[in-house]
Amino acid sequence: MSKLLIVGTVAFDAIETPFGKTDKILGGAATYISLSASQFGVNSGIVSVVGGDFPKEYLSKLNKRNINTDGIEIIKEGKTFFWKGKYHNDLNSRDTLITDLNVLADFNPIVPESFRDTEFLMLGNLHPSVQMGVIKQIPNRPKLVVLDTMNFWMDNTLDELMEVIAKIDVITINDEEARQLSGEYSLVKAAQKIHEMGPKYVVIKKGEHGALLFNNENVFFAPALPLEEVFDPTGAGDTFAGGFIGHLAKTEDISFENMKRAVIAGSNLASFCVEKFGTERMEDLTHDEIQERLLQFKQLTQFEIELS
Ligand code: AMP
Repeated sequence: MSKLLIVGTVAFDAIETPFGKTDKILGGAATYISLSASQFGVNSGIVSVVGGDFPKEYLSKLNKRNINTDGIEIIKEGKTFFWKGKYHNDLNSRDTLITDLNVLADFNPIVPESFRDTEFLMLGNLHPSVQMGVIKQIPNRPKLVVLDTMNFWMDNTLDELMEVIAKIDVITINDEEARQLSGEYSLVKAAQKIHEMGPKYVVIKKGEHGALLFNNENVFFAPALPLEEVFDPTGAGDTFAGGFIGHLAKTEDISFENMKRAVIAGSNLASFCVEKFGTERMEDLTHDEIQERLLQFKQLTQFEIELS
């Protein structure tokens, strides 16, 4: 069974959507990625850091889904990373109200011995110097390295981020971030510029409008499933990334054709994530529900047409 190492925040989130508010629930990029990837039965582990205020039950939620948390350092006297966001009425955009790095501010990651030979590495959203610290601890280059990041790190740590981007295979970012990183408005031009920075594959997430996968002249588009109700989009991007790499790690096939399926797998899982607040929906998701919705994806996108 292939191994998947996930780096990213394990966090407290406070979320406000037009449908309600929550205070300090389980969140974080690595949390969402790992819950999503856990659906593929790969041997996965997290590298992250939390404070002494982080409830043990939250770690148990991950362990219950067979996610190894030995690489989550607990700094007893420290406070866990905290993020607060508020969604606009369209739920496609949000404002970050608070980002308290806390224990993440001077975190030195340590990759557990048992994950140093990982074949798949998911560099989830967090400080690029931590992402680089993890890359350096893996002696043999993994089969595939995927990076997810966000505007916060482009604004605050661009030079370090660019060094990481030069070392990875796939980048997943949203449309606004692709524009910010490349300085191009056209997403096609943005992808070309980002290719030049290093990644052979560029995935641009467009929220409820789906996702694009670029590999030079090859382009693939996956829609997002039109949902009756979206409750809380937090973690949808991370859930997408977890489904994307989870599918690739399970199938051990990193061809462009299989990446198309990985984009669908990611979009499919993200469609569940948004149905409830926080991680709730991802915690009790079943294999049958996932399969049923994959069929809906197929029906949504398949068509026959005669070329004249
Ligand atoms: P997403 O909605 O997929 O973009 O991810 C939301 C998650 O990202 C939340 O659970 C937050 O805890 C986490 N998050 C927010 N800001 C940051 C940041 N600057 N670095 C790392 N993780 C973050």
